[in-house]
Amino acid sequence: MAAFDLVVIGGGSGGVRAARIAAGHGASVALVEEYRLGGTCVIRGCVPKKLMVYASRFAQEFEEAAGYGWTLQEPHFNWATLKMRRDAEVARLEGIYRHNLLSSGVQIFTGQARLTDAHTVVLDGGTTLQGKHILIATGAAPANGPAIPGQDLAIDSNGFFDLTALPQRVVVQGAGYIALELACVLQGLGAKVQVVLRGDQILRGFDDEVRKHLAEALTASGLQLHTGRNLTAISRDASGLQVQLDDGSSLAADCVLRALGRNPNTQGLGLEAVGIALDQHGAIPVDAFSQTAIPSIYAVGDVTNRVNLTPMAIREGHAFADTVFGAKPRSVDHTLVPTAVFTTPEMGVVGLTEEAALQRYPHLDVYRANFRPMKATLSGHQGRMLLKLLVDRDTDRVVGFHGVGPDTGEMAQLLGVALQLQATKASLDATLAVHPTAAEELVTMRTPAVRHNL
Ligand SMILES: Cc1cc2nc3c(=O)[nH]c(=O)nc-3n(C[C@H](O)[C@H](O)[C@H](O)COP(=O)(O)OP(=O)(O)OC[C@H]3O[C@@H](n4cnc5c(N)ncnc54)[C@H](O)[C@@H]3O)c2cc1C
Repeated sequence: MAAFDLVVIGGGSGGVRAARIAAGHGASVALVEEYRLGGTCVIRGCVPKKLMVYASRFAQEFEEAAGYGWTLQEPHFNWATLKMRRDAEVARLEGIYRHNLLSSGVQIFTGQARLTDAHTVVLDGGTTLQGKHILIATGAAPANGPAIPGQDLAIDSNGFFDLTALPQRVVVQGAGYIALELACVLQGLGAKVQVVLRGDQILRGFDDEVRKHLAEALTASGLQLHTGRNLTAISRDASGLQVQLDDGSSLAADCVLRALGRNPNTQGLGLEAVGIALDQHGAIPVDAFSQTAIPSIYAVGDVTNRVNLTPMAIREGHAFADTVFGAKPRSVDHTLVPTAVFTTPEMGVVGLTEEAALQRYPHLDVYRANFRPMKATLSGHQGRMLLKLLVDRDTDRVVGFHGVGPDTGEMAQLLGVALQLQATKASLDATLAVHPTAAEELVTMRTPAVRHNL
């Protein structure tokens, strides 16, 4: 039986970072992966999705080019070419992950891992690994949602990346970022897309005004939103798929994509055997140092359902390795999370929503710029950008940024730095604008649009 200082289960964002950093601290490390190195983000998440987003946005660029004097022949999109090139890039990245792990001295094992006690991991092929410490970094998988007749006719986000042709008519069920991003990709590439959502607005948990602005922009771009609706059945006939909704209506489709959230990957891990109980969401409870109820076992990333994003899994994995093997105890701040939603138009966010900020800072000022970007003047595109800053009047601190429009994801990254440094509105005002840009609005907003509780 092979013995290590650390056995990592899961070769995704969190597991790979933890394994490499622990090895760098001198630990002997084994990493077990059942599918492909790189995990969700590299293989069927952030990376291939963003490549598809880039592909889908050319459609609008071609349209807008005419206003700038370009004459183009009718552009033609080939799904097979994009898929082949995307898959090759993903395989290249997977190879880099493997190379980096091996060159850090990590031993890679292939198979499905299961815990049998607080220090032992058994692979489905029979190999047994002993670890002074064990890190569970098994991520999450698409949730099935409520069972409906014909559900096997639908695909989830994993199935999206396997599609071999562009479906012409798509029904997407869900209103989270994955549902909307994939809906926009398909629409940009030429599909007719209808989104069915249970609630009355997209992107629950995001700032209400920004959700509304984005929903209007998506509708204006041709995406059809069916709010307050559920799927009750899917069937196939000669003309394709028929999707039944709970109001008795039906939608015709060639593809039904259900994106109904994600469940932590804990099934079959043997957690009961070692005495780890799951929380109400099926996630592994951990403390601030990612330690579970069993002292030798830690967990990071989506399987702990804290903030389910790649940079967070990476940071948790790194902090774990520094804490346990680097004699540098580090916990992770889960509060200030810059993030982007890669719909078209995209959304960038950091800090509190207006609703949450008001709970904490009753004397809240809202600065807002709602404008047509300069590029639209000649291109004729009708979309408007929304940029919004939330400022606590008592301290002048900027406590939230929300944007919809081109490059707002990039803006969220830089405003994340400013908020991390506890920027005040006065410090943004003192910052010179980069002209002409859209982001300059962020340092030139003079008058609050709303002053709460003045
Ligand atoms: C479509 C989509 C788009 C996304 N876009 C973004 C984005 O733009 N930005 C962002 O920050 N995040 C995005 N995410 C989320 C991001 O991918 C995850 O938060 C991140 O991958 C979590 O990392 P992790 O290490 O926890 O798990 P994962 O990366 O999922 O890795 C877990 C690994 O464990 C393996 N595994 C599971 N069980 C076992 C077992 N028993 N034995 C051995 N191996 C096992 C799995 O095969 C997997 O490789 C997206 C996710 C999806 C699905």
